[in-house]
Amino acid sequence: MKASPGTCVNIVGAGLAGALLAVLLARRGFGVRLYERRPDPRQAAPERGRSINLALAARGIAALERAGVMAQVWPLTIEMRGRMVHERSGSAALQPYGQRPNEVIYSVGRADLNRVLIEEALRHAGVTVRFSHQACGVDLGRDRLRLRELASGAEHEVPLAPTIATDGAGSAVRTSLTTAGLLAVREEWLDHDYKELTIPAAAAGALDRHALHIWPRGGFMLIALPNTDGSFTATLFLTRTGERGFAALGAPDAVAAFFAREFPDAVALLPQLRDEFARNPQGQLGTVHTAPWHAGGAVLLLGDAAHAIVPFHGQGMNAAFEDCRVLDDLLDTDDHWESLFVAFERARRPNTEAIAQMALENYGEMRDAVLDARFLRLKSLAMGLERRFPDRFIPRYSMVMFHPEIPYAEALRRGALQARLLGELDAQGDSDPGLAERLIRERLAPVA
Ligand SMILES: Cc1cc2nc3c(=O)[nH]c(=O)nc-3n(C[C@H](O)[C@H](O)[C@H](O)COP(=O)(O)OP(=O)(O)OC[C@H]3O[C@@H](n4cnc5c(N)ncnc54)[C@H](O)[C@@H]3O)c2cc1C
Repeated sequence: MKASPGTCVNIVGAGLAGALLAVLLARRGFGVRLYERRPDPRQAAPERGRSINLALAARGIAALERAGVMAQVWPLTIEMRGRMVHERSGSAALQPYGQRPNEVIYSVGRADLNRVLIEEALRHAGVTVRFSHQACGVDLGRDRLRLRELASGAEHEVPLAPTIATDGAGSAVRTSLTTAGLLAVREEWLDHDYKELTIPAAAAGALDRHALHIWPRGGFMLIALPNTDGSFTATLFLTRTGERGFAALGAPDAVAAFFAREFPDAVALLPQLRDEFARNPQGQLGTVHTAPWHAGGAVLLLGDAAHAIVPFHGQGMNAAFEDCRVLDDLLDTDDHWESLFVAFERARRPNTEAIAQMALENYGEMRDAVLDARFLRLKSLAMGLERRFPDRFIPRYSMVMFHPEIPYAEALRRGALQARLLGELDAQGDSDPGLAERLIRERLAPVA
């Protein structure tokens, strides 16, 4: 099937990736039919319990710029310059994310960002969105996408056209392809769940609005990201079971006692703690590995539907947006859906596997290592090396968050070399002043 402008594409899921992809395809002249399970977000309240705000970084921004929407997105963002690490003693210290003024990340509300993208998509005459329409699956043999209209319960079918599934981590399209034996899925669930809580503007007090706050406690942690209305959204990450797990926090008194013991300086920030803890859903976290991501030229999975990851690097949405930008790039050189989908998977898979791994590794860093003296020493050493050799040594966190020109897989590869090198330099101390330069020139080629 030809991917030529004027032809029509179905997108299942008008979430973050689906809505952005609709804008990019519409700008190229494709017709787009979006099917979204939720009601119209311009009329209904957002779903509760789904990361209310997210960290937006350079990869996501590059894709949003490609779609021409950053002018509408900037007012929704709050700059976060570093991690504010809150110790049990109540003392707090800012660990900057980078060392240049532009090396910051941005908190953005999911619902607002999604609304901007949907509105932008709908500015194009060739785009339609059917809200409250749930995809039930695809039938490749009959070339059909099966849909249910949620208001009436009526089911109907449309031609595949092709169909790009951006229906998130629990993708129904992926499930139907798996059931048909067309792809294989492996889901790796963490034994840690999460729960979101509100720090109202009135209670936020002196909490720095330009930081991502972390209360690391070894096996678990609380974090908080700022919202534009002055409130923060806090998220507790905790094991499901065990003495210090969600299972032990069934009663409101147990919750209050847990917070008083583990996060004493956060208690005053969370005046609705007991109610919210009982009311808000407990979310699961995991990594989804899928292969392949497409069925011929008829169906492609993209974003979380293809490769959901744990949220500890703040990159799931950024990676999903990067998917959209890469697919858009490929449309410059390929006009057959099947070869396009093959090329997309070939280009993206090594990178999404790399960020999945780095996201898991970052959990240990956030909940634990940020308090560790060696971690802080190596971080400061890394920053010093970046200042001296900016074209060769860039801390891995910075490569991922601030350097969209460095693919995730390359960030992982260079990061491993750098970690080894930092270990060696740290062990050596100051005994050989020329060692850093020698090792870096020998082992790290300039960033391409
Ligand atoms: C706690 C938490 C914190 C996170 N923090 C960050 C962060 O700071 N930074 C970051 O980059 N990422 C973060 N993420 C990851 C991010 O949320 C996802 O990677 C991102 O939402 C993926 O976008 P998507 O469009 O692929 O999927 P989604 O955003 O999940 O969108 C899927 C859409 O499909 C719709 N849908 C689902 N099923 C159907 C169906 N059958 N038919 C029709 N429509 C359907 C849904 O309603 C939704 O609108 C976080 C995730 C979690 C859980």
